[in-house]
Amino acid sequence: MDHFLYKDGVLHAEDVPLAEIAAQVGTPFYCYSTATLERHFRLFDEALEGLDHLVCFAMKAASNQAILTFLAGLGAGMDVVSGGEYARARAAGVPGERIVFSGVGKTRSEMRMALEGGIRQFNVESEPEMEALSAIASEMGVIAPITVRVNPDVDAKTHAKIATGKAENKFGIPISRAREVYAHAARLPGLKVVGIDVHIGSQLTDLEPFRQAYRKVADLTRTLRADGHDISRLDLGGGLGIPYEHGNSAPPLPVEYGRMIHEELGDIGCEIEIEPGRLIAGNAGVMVAGVIYVKSGEGRDFLILDGAMNDLIRPAMYDAHHDIVPLNEPAPGVEKRPYDVVGPVCETGDTFARARQLPPLEAGDAVAFRGAGAYGAVMASEYNTRPLVPEVLVKGDQFAVIRSRPTFDEMINRDTIPPWV
Ligand SMILES: *Cc1c(COP(=O)(O)O)cnc(C)c1O
Repeated sequence: MDHFLYKDGVLHAEDVPLAEIAAQVGTPFYCYSTATLERHFRLFDEALEGLDHLVCFAMKAASNQAILTFLAGLGAGMDVVSGGEYARARAAGVPGERIVFSGVGKTRSEMRMALEGGIRQFNVESEPEMEALSAIASEMGVIAPITVRVNPDVDAKTHAKIATGKAENKFGIPISRAREVYAHAARLPGLKVVGIDVHIGSQLTDLEPFRQAYRKVADLTRTLRADGHDISRLDLGGGLGIPYEHGNSAPPLPVEYGRMIHEELGDIGCEIEIEPGRLIAGNAGVMVAGVIYVKSGEGRDFLILDGAMNDLIRPAMYDAHHDIVPLNEPAPGVEKRPYDVVGPVCETGDTFARARQLPPLEAGDAVAFRGAGAYGAVMASEYNTRPLVPEVLVKGDQFAVIRSRPTFDEMINRDTIPPWV
């Protein structure tokens, strides 16, 4: 459920007509609903009620300071995967003890930064990383709390580019080697083992792979405890999928996911952390783009938008489907027709959808890409020197630009020309 609905025939974000934002900000832009962000965060928080738990927003999904500050105010922790994200989380007021640091290639300076600023735990992904962290923590005279990310070798049944829990993926250490790696960790100075971490992929639409992975984590918890390790915290990762296609997919709900966690891990005596990103932000955001031209081609019509692959790369990168809806609700009974929906970038890959059935549209109309709040604006670029797409946040009948569109001069002046050119 989200808060982008037609009211009196015009598409609203909560109580604000998207056309009003378009008139003020120009297209393309992203628009997020605070009510949807809040609802989704609370669904997870409530699903884990009864367990000692922390919901850490995977901020790589949507990392605008306004969104982070809003979620932090609801009590969210953050899952960060870079020094930049760590800095963003701290700047949004998230205390170190609510930040977990994930990622396969943490640098020494990122480790130092998090140890100085405060960190709940590092989710360590390899033995070389463990050794580097041990050396830095020892040098600083502090103790780094760690979990080790284990790769449970389960098939998440999702797009290959976002599956992370199979043996061939680069993430974590094979679960079969976990005892050895934990023994190694226990011997290293400057580290304190606090638990186990697992994250098997993104956009999962079935609970079964999660269940399999969590069962393996439960078994491993018992084994490692018997080996003398203090396993008091389980980080279960993110990955719960969202419905991208209206009426055509129904991934499990957070409440069902939470019930499964209670079943599998409810009595293991660990604090539970989860790291949802997509499910919190995905349906809390749309990208609005204007129609520049409608061009008739051979046996097809092209809807040429002012938004492009540099603004929303998911269709080009993951073959992702986004529902596309006009800002003005089509009259009942109006006949739809197929459009190839494209952007102006000079690549055939800049195609959002082929033969998409839409009501008739003309130049000057605008459309919204639904489900664009996660892995949308954060992956945007200035390819073709197209200004970085702005972001807008809505709350009730208020809206604010939370990242403005750069001017051409701002973009150009980021470059410097050496005197010897
Ligand atoms: C990407 C990622 C997440 C979030 O995944 P979603 O599918 O957005 O919920 C959580 N944890 C880790 C380690 C990740 O890499």
